[in-house]
Amino acid sequence: MFVDSHAHLQLPHYKKDLDAVLIRSVSEGIDNIMLVGSNEKDSASGVKLALQHDFLRASVGIHPHDVKTVTPATYKNLTALVKKYDVAAYGEIGLDFFKNYSPKDLQLEHFISQIDLADELALPLIVHIRDAYEECYEIFLKKKGKIKKGGVIHCFSSDSEHAKKFIDLGFHISFSCSITYKNSYKQVEALKNISTDIILIETDAPYLTPVPFRGKRNEPCYVKEVAKFIAKIKGLSVEDVARITARNFHSLFGAKKKEDAAEIDAEIVYKIRNSLYVNLTNDCTNDCSFCARSRSFVVKGHNLKLDNEPSVDDVIKLIGDPSKYDEVVFCGYGEPLIKLKNVIEIAKYVKQKGGKVRINTNGQGNMIHKRNILPSLKGIVDMISISLNAESEEKYDKFCHSIFGKEAYNGVKSFILRAKEVIPCVTVTVVDMPGIDVLACEKIAHQTLGVGFRARKLNDVG
Ligand code: SF4
Repeated sequence: MFVDSHAHLQLPHYKKDLDAVLIRSVSEGIDNIMLVGSNEKDSASGVKLALQHDFLRASVGIHPHDVKTVTPATYKNLTALVKKYDVAAYGEIGLDFFKNYSPKDLQLEHFISQIDLADELALPLIVHIRDAYEECYEIFLKKKGKIKKGGVIHCFSSDSEHAKKFIDLGFHISFSCSITYKNSYKQVEALKNISTDIILIETDAPYLTPVPFRGKRNEPCYVKEVAKFIAKIKGLSVEDVARITARNFHSLFGAKKKEDAAEIDAEIVYKIRNSLYVNLTNDCTNDCSFCARSRSFVVKGHNLKLDNEPSVDDVIKLIGDPSKYDEVVFCGYGEPLIKLKNVIEIAKYVKQKGGKVRINTNGQGNMIHKRNILPSLKGIVDMISISLNAESEEKYDKFCHSIFGKEAYNGVKSFILRAKEVIPCVTVTVVDMPGIDVLACEKIAHQTLGVGFRARKLNDVG
């Protein structure tokens, strides 16, 4: 199911066929649409329309183009709507110094006062920015304590640097259909460099119709084109992008429908692309400073926080036919080799049924079990990915905080060398982050250890 986080179906563009547009949206799998207000009139009509359908949400606010229409009663009326009805967000508000349909000083004045109003109403923000990214950023920086409910930079059109700055302030980044256009290189670069944890997708219908439908009026079912584009750039499936962006939407705006509000149960096996991941434990012998677990247990839209560790039978039942997947990966949010016996039994099952097995590990299996465990993985593991994490013992200790202390780094290196003897494909990984010399790590992988190497992006898991 897909979410269109920004559309204007209350506008006259849909007067003649709104019902058909809504039916088409639902039948195409769009199960949540945010109707965004731009002025007093369409804020009220969006809220009214959202009352009629449980898959429609509404926001209220005054767009920078429209701030010249504000009267003394405007904000009183918007506040009354929020107090009376289910309003999910405040916006779209912002600055548009490209068109300047309202004078700049008026835009600035109303933008600032609406940020304060959204804070009073405890609503997340929907922000419109055009040719004013730096100005908006400076305002938000000063208002840091006033954006407690977060928000989204809608139809993001700037570069990686701005995306990261807004993310650091707690904002989500929403990509619209304009990312499918030829000249979207800046957005694409930004998309490549940010985590999917904070991405939303939108149509901005009726505007910005995507390729290949340009020339037609835009509508929510075309949000799939944005999802397809993002899937290609991020190396994910369209299903992954739909799940991730829906989860991000609900965590920012809350849920209207019961099924969206329900806590997602912990997932023992979960699919990303066409790989099936196995989540055996949340325990780990490291406490890495960069571990994404400290922020959230949600990975690519899957909840990995286990209440109980699963048995071998539980996992085998959930895997079913492993040959349907490119690989079965022991990963999860913890160190799988702590559960060595389970890994061995499950891996044997996967191999017997014609599947491929990969293990992602911190490389401390021999230290955990106080013996060389690698011969027990011979013939049942096709690939192993081992986190080297640093170019020296000191750095490893500084970033990974292993229970094995200073011994850990050399233990990991010795594990890598022994893994080479029994597992056909061995790769070491490092997280590319400040303080780590990625090139030195690559040299160690290729020249000292004689294995493959991959640098991973910080905060991009799965
Ligand atoms: S080894 Fe992996 S799971 Fe364990 S703390 Fe480090 S990053 Fe987290």
